[in-house]
Amino acid sequence: MPFVDAAVAGTRNLLCVTATDTAPLCGAHFESGVRRYDTVPRNTEYHPEMGLRVLIGALVRRAASRDKAAVPVCSHVSRHYARTYLELEANATEANAALEELGFVHHCQDCLERDHEFGRLPDAPEVCPDCGSRRVVTAGPIWLGPVAEPSFVERVSDAVTDDMGEAKRARKLLDTVAGEPDRPTHYDQHRLYKQWSRPAIGMEEFVAALRDAGFAAARAHYSGTAFKTDATVAEMRDVTADLG
Ligand SMILES: [Zn+2]
Repeated sequence: MPFVDAAVAGTRNLLCVTATDTAPLCGAHFESGVRRYDTVPRNTEYHPEMGLRVLIGALVRRAASRDKAAVPVCSHVSRHYARTYLELEANATEANAALEELGFVHHCQDCLERDHEFGRLPDAPEVCPDCGSRRVVTAGPIWLGPVAEPSFVERVSDAVTDDMGEAKRARKLLDTVAGEPDRPTHYDQHRLYKQWSRPAIGMEEFVAALRDAGFAAARAHYSGTAFKTDATVAEMRDVTADLG
């Protein structure tokens, strides 16, 4: 973060940022996350994505202070770092539009349901609308918009050649990122099944069941058990009740 202002000032088109301080980013080291990224990070079961969105949110705000719009075209969290590629545009109106993609996530620590709202001020629920728990935490402002532009990511994947080390791994990562539904948080399937006191079923079967029920659903690149969907926790529980 100490170098962001200089990087934004010295970059014309594409700003590429790697962050290795995942504990402050995801809220595991709360106070240092607040200091470095000037936001409220929260430690949830989707911590890699929380960290990525805290990072992008901070970068978008710093760029906006220089009348520049920063829009992520590709992002991922791999091993122990977050990486994002931001397209920069020197345009105050576009910078305003980028800021409108920031907002808050409200997360229930009991039933794992979460909601998000765009804007500069949060309207946090006092109790979880789904289970009535008072253990609802709010994170933000963080980036809520897309973390990648699928057509760009697909072109990057096509440009990976076998002589580039780890070509297979890179293609798999990029293809997963390109196919992720545009939602601000992902779920961890094992965490859900633990919550439901049921043995987890295979990821492919699980994601297919959600799709068959009419929901958007796909694996997410954050881990082998990560996925994204527009279904609620209660809907997922119902849809998969007879499986496994
Ligand atoms: Zn709840």
